[in-house]
Amino acid sequence: MYQTRLEETLPRVRERVAEAAARVGRSPEGVRTVAVTKGHPMEAIRAALASGIRDLGENRLGELEEKRRALDGSGGSPPDLRWHMVGHLQRRKAPGVRDAAHLLHSLDSLRLARRLERTAPEGSRPLPVLLQVNTSGEASKYGFTPEGFTDGLGEILEMTSLEVRGLMTMAPLTDDRALIRATFRRLRQLQERARESHSGYGGEELSMGMSNDYELAVEEGSTLVRLGTVLFGERPE
Ligand SMILES: *Cc1c(COP(=O)(O)O)cnc(C)c1O
Repeated sequence: MYQTRLEETLPRVRERVAEAAARVGRSPEGVRTVAVTKGHPMEAIRAALASGIRDLGENRLGELEEKRRALDGSGGSPPDLRWHMVGHLQRRKAPGVRDAAHLLHSLDSLRLARRLERTAPEGSRPLPVLLQVNTSGEASKYGFTPEGFTDGLGEILEMTSLEVRGLMTMAPLTDDRALIRATFRRLRQLQERARESHSGYGGEELSMGMSNDYELAVEEGSTLVRLGTVLFGERPE
C-alpha cells in the first residue's frame, strides 16, 4: 500500500519542489526531502527506501530508536541513510540522540544545548544540530525567540560537542499564506544576520516547510523540507 502511494506522491512532490525552486532561480538539488514517518509502520520506511529516499525523520526519540533498531536488525539499512530527529527532545532523554540521529533539527533551548554538551562522552564526534527558532511567535511553539537566538548561538558555538549546521522553524497553523511566508523569510534573514554577527557561524541549512507549506518554504530558501502526510497519507495513529 505504501509503495503504491509513494509511486504517485513522491514524483509529484519532487516536481512541485522543482517548480518552486525554479520560480526563485534556485536549483532543486539544493532542497532535500526528509520523509517524516512518525505514526506510520515499518512498511512506510521500507517503501520510502525502495523509492530512493535516504532521509528519514521522526518527532519522538523513542520511536526513532525503535524503528532504527528494527531496520538495522533486519539488515535493511542502506549505508547512506540519515535519521533526522525533528521533534522536541525531552532533556532527560536528550543524550540518546547522539547515537540515534544524524541531525537534530530541534535544538530549541540553551538548557537543552547545555545538557547535551555536559553529557557528551569524551572524544565523541560533534552532533550536527539546527537551532529551532520560533519565528511565528506562537506561545505553543518551542524554540528560541528571534531576539534571544543570537545570544544563545554565541554560547552554543563554543560547545565542542555540537556542530551548528543551520536553523529550523515551524510555520503557524493558519490559512494566511502571507503570514506563513513571513515566518520562513524571517528565518532566512536570521541566518544571514547570524553569519555576519558570528564569525564562527557558517550555517547553511534551513529546515522549513511541511506538507501544507513546503512550496512557500522552498521559495523562501528552504534546504530541508520535512514531509509526512503529503507522501504517506494521514497518520493511522
Ligand atoms: C509531523 C512533523 C512534520 C511532518 O508533518 P506533515 O504535515 O505530515 O508533513 C514535520 N516536522 C515536524 C517537526 C513534525 O512533527
